[in-house]
Amino acid sequence: MAVASLTIDLDALTANWRALDRASASGVQTAGVVKADGYGLGVGPVVRALAHAGARRFFVAAAEEGVLVRKALGPGPQINVLSGHMAGDTPLIRDHDLTPMLNSLDQVTRHLESLPGHAFGIQLDTGMNRLGMEEAEWEAAAPFVLEAGPELLMSHLACADDPDHALNEVQLANFHAMTDGTGIARSFAATGGILLGPAYHFDLTRPGIGLYGGRPYEGAAPVVRLSLPVVQTRLVAAGEAVGYSCTWVAQQLSLIATVQGGYADGIIRSLSNRATLWAGDVPCPLVGRVSMDLITVDVSHLGHAPERLDLIGPNQTLDQLADVAGTIGYELLTRLAPRLDRRYFGGPRG
Ligand SMILES: *Cc1c(COP(=O)(O)O)cnc(C)c1O
Repeated sequence: MAVASLTIDLDALTANWRALDRASASGVQTAGVVKADGYGLGVGPVVRALAHAGARRFFVAAAEEGVLVRKALGPGPQINVLSGHMAGDTPLIRDHDLTPMLNSLDQVTRHLESLPGHAFGIQLDTGMNRLGMEEAEWEAAAPFVLEAGPELLMSHLACADDPDHALNEVQLANFHAMTDGTGIARSFAATGGILLGPAYHFDLTRPGIGLYGGRPYEGAAPVVRLSLPVVQTRLVAAGEAVGYSCTWVAQQLSLIATVQGGYADGIIRSLSNRATLWAGDVPCPLVGRVSMDLITVDVSHLGHAPERLDLIGPNQTLDQLADVAGTIGYELLTRLAPRLDRRYFGGPRG
């Protein structure tokens, strides 16, 4: 097998969902955010495991993603589309029973005209300035929109990963001002918002990254392991260079393992000459550039050629690797390429 294997622990995924579910009061529903192919892990197995654990509602970014969730789960669970109702979405929303979170008066008009009576929610902008109706627009539209019966009002926090950020409370106050007294179910918190405490939970929470084992949920169980097969090893003499552009030069006779896995697999180039891989519990430095399909690793101190090296695993979390790469766990996960051999264990049986 000459592709890297991505092992996905569905029991850890559902344990994270249950723990985040328990973090809010008993009347609060916990959804699962599964946009971008379940944060790169494979939306089918992810939603089936979460549904089996008790999740009844899922959020995706686009209607096309919602169709995949519906096909994996069948009728029943609610599927909310964060981009709302875009031109061309009508047949997807209708045929697959998706619930668009409408972001503007234009979208409200499109939805009510094309699918009268079809469920929808409203997304409000409380300070992030990204998606949703702003205060003035909402004030004007609210009487008529509320009359049409939205099933959910939601907003999203810009800085929830920083509990001390002043914008959290500002957004919370804005959300109250825009939604108090409507009698409609409300959703405000993603993973970071859940950790800010019950004032942020409202009726429904929307965790994503915490389910997959990432920050800011420090208590998360690790879900992924990325293990790369060693294709070849060679001795490199002192003074010889390794890889593109000769960015690493051996200071002494070195044993270099050439490992299958490169930027086309989602191992981003900023890891060149910086990342550490693990042979069991022994750290081994990545040397030279990350190329499209391969990386090179100094295994001199092992004294032998290992069969595999871990890039994400028991000794290096997703976020630790993201720190080395100068990015965040979300980006590393969602770049994990289709060609990786995804292996699932745990999850629903029988
Ligand atoms: C991505 C997203 C989420 C999930 O956020 P996490 O930080 O991954 O928990 C929730 N709500 C909205 C609107 C999002 O875009």
